[in-house]
Amino acid sequence: MYRLATDLRLSGWVLNTPAGVLLEVEGSPERVQDFQTALKDQKPVNCVFYSSEATVLDPLGYASFEIRESLTGKKSAVVLPDLATCAACRTELFDPANRRFRYPFINCTHCGPRFSIIESLPYDRSNTSMKRFEMCPVCRSEYEDPQDRRFHAQPNACPVCGPWLELWRQDGSKAAERDEALLQAVRAVGEGQILALKGIGGFQLIVDARNDRAVLRLRELKDREEKPFALMYPSLERAESDCVVSRLEQELLRSPAAPIVLLTAKSAAISRLVAPGNPYLGVMLPYSPLHHLVLADLDLPVVATSGNAKDEPICADEHEAHERLKRYADLFLVHNRPVVRPVDDSVVRVLMGREAVMRRARGYAPLPVVLQAGGPAVLGVGALLKNTVALSVGHQVFISQHLGDLETPEARNGFEEAIAALEHLYETRPTSVACDAHPDYESTRYAEAAALPVTQVQHHFAHVLSCMAENDLNAPALGVSWDGTGYGLDGTVWGGEFLEIYETSFVRLAHFETFRLPGSDRAVREPRRSALGLLHCVFGNEAFEMTELEAVASFSAAERALLRAAVTKGINSPLTSSAGRLFDGVAALAGLRQISTYEGQAAMELEFACHGFESDESYPIGVDEHAGGDAKRPILIDWKPLVKQVLADTKSCVPAGVIAVRFHNALAEAIVGVAKRAGQSRVVLSGGCFQNRYLTERAITRLVQEGFRPYWHQRIPPNDGGISLGQVAAVLKARESGAPQSRARSAAERAE
Ligand code: ZN
Ligand code: ZN
Ligand code: FE
Repeated sequence: MYRLATDLRLSGWVLNTPAGVLLEVEGSPERVQDFQTALKDQKPVNCVFYSSEATVLDPLGYASFEIRESLTGKKSAVVLPDLATCAACRTELFDPANRRFRYPFINCTHCGPRFSIIESLPYDRSNTSMKRFEMCPVCRSEYEDPQDRRFHAQPNACPVCGPWLELWRQDGSKAAERDEALLQAVRAVGEGQILALKGIGGFQLIVDARNDRAVLRLRELKDREEKPFALMYPSLERAESDCVVSRLEQELLRSPAAPIVLLTAKSAAISRLVAPGNPYLGVMLPYSPLHHLVLADLDLPVVATSGNAKDEPICADEHEAHERLKRYADLFLVHNRPVVRPVDDSVVRVLMGREAVMRRARGYAPLPVVLQAGGPAVLGVGALLKNTVALSVGHQVFISQHLGDLETPEARNGFEEAIAALEHLYETRPTSVACDAHPDYESTRYAEAAALPVTQVQHHFAHVLSCMAENDLNAPALGVSWDGTGYGLDGTVWGGEFLEIYETSFVRLAHFETFRLPGSDRAVREPRRSALGLLHCVFGNEAFEMTELEAVASFSAAERALLRAAVTKGINSPLTSSAGRLFDGVAALAGLRQISTYEGQAAMELEFACHGFESDESYPIGVDEHAGGDAKRPILIDWKPLVKQVLADTKSCVPAGVIAVRFHNALAEAIVGVAKRAGQSRVVLSGGCFQNRYLTERAITRLVQEGFRPYWHQRIPPNDGGISLGQVAAVLKARESGAPQSRARSAAERAE
């Protein structure tokens, strides 16, 4: 790496860490790109990159390239993510002359399961779920031969000695085993049946993606009306005939992580019911030998969705899966290699020409994020939805795989198991715990009960810190933290926040003007409630009579009377500054959606509406008034002129796409406006709203035009999957600078 970097006249550094090689190279984007390509093409024959993650950072002006002193730590503490089947194994898999021809558990040191089969360290076969399989003499000689591709490949196996498949019927009886099980399973999927397939990190439900009836049946059984399903294509070529695939997207699809990549759909030859009303398709390629075999035999795209009941985590054990999934699946293709921890498929999309991870699980977890601050171990327990947990070991933070929403007993078990597993794997007991400030989150309760010092980290502060951590960015900065909900520090629900970030504290510099959320949590599923809240803020009680609007008319007269009473008395109608709810409300006012069938649907549809409506036009939005006219209080983002304009445009039948673009552009202008007032050159974009590609790209572009330096998420999800990292970062930072704990400072303190 040193030679390559100096040959390309790049500056920076490289060092060894207990989790692998870490390096920074600095130079023109073209030469940095050349370096990345050369790294792959020119590596020594015996050198293997198992996996890698890259982040684009600010240039620091390194004078030269140097080899730095290694970070110390337990050398054994390297846990790799699960790696997609390599090209060599793929060739053997389909070679009739090979002894592993059609063997669904083929792997080598370059590929195969890792994180999902490790029980403890060091990573030896005896510490994996492969320990129950005794290697046959041929496999053993491969395993012991330093010249062999399977030298110390812990999951090494073959048809003689390794795991095998079984096909189970709905009643749990065995229908077939080994290759016959696979052939029968493939036939059943071809005939429109629902197959539960035990993959790498757990079960997936598989159906023929072209078969309307099969997809509809899966939707009905899973009680999942419109939330898009992920697809698996037999090959890149087949995916390209249905979707637009850029170079980077190709690389992501074929990477060892093999995530689900959100691609723009062309005229896809698949059922409309896969992703109704969605211009994107979530696409992945086969990543395990079993998937390669199934997809090659089927030769058609399949829906491949996590094998779980609604709101429950993914099933990993075949007996448990049979119990929990027999209502959903006709057949179960299972095997006897245990999954030690459930790991979902990861989801990525391309933002500003870079990879951005939306769900971080298989292929990425548990690669660490390295922080500048270190010290005794800290556990971050995350928030509630899309949760992850994180554990620091020295300067490294290990972030768990995506665990899902902590709303069912199964999910809470999974959460506790994930914490225990991280502590066990890294033989590290945390000395303190960081949690959300929300008292009713299950994660907060866990932290409070842990008999360790607890630090509550405000939700939106944690979002910004997670983004700063992965961008290796120090305070001060302006954090733009926008999401659906987070526990505020003033009794309101926060979610549209501008935070000035200092070393160990923050100031709430600005936020969206608050509005009532009639029915509180019910508003998440009913965007029309957010619309009513916005209207009430603008027009007072007149809002409940504006039945010319679909959002209002969709309530009965009796409901409107109840809502009016609730809102005026403030009963179950909290005040919120949520940007997510503002999206919902505008989507409802523009007539796009009154009731959502899954979290975030209305906001996503508002984003989708922008497709094909390029424009710089923007609605008016105010960023000048301080709350109560008091310069020591936060600036209020006044969205009222925007809402009035949305109503006027809707009334005069302006297309929803035009409204959507003007709305998104207005939000980007609000960011630029506050950034100008904050006087911080660095602007950090975090929170679930920045999963929205249009919003994120527009905000970045406008910030750059105005001379600011925007930062956004790349390796870590912008949604609540990043909260645990932000919590850990808050505690480590505070401890390093001797502050009692990270805290909010009042705007008054700032003014002083
Ligand atoms: Zn391989
Ligand atoms: Zn063998
Ligand atoms: Fe959040």
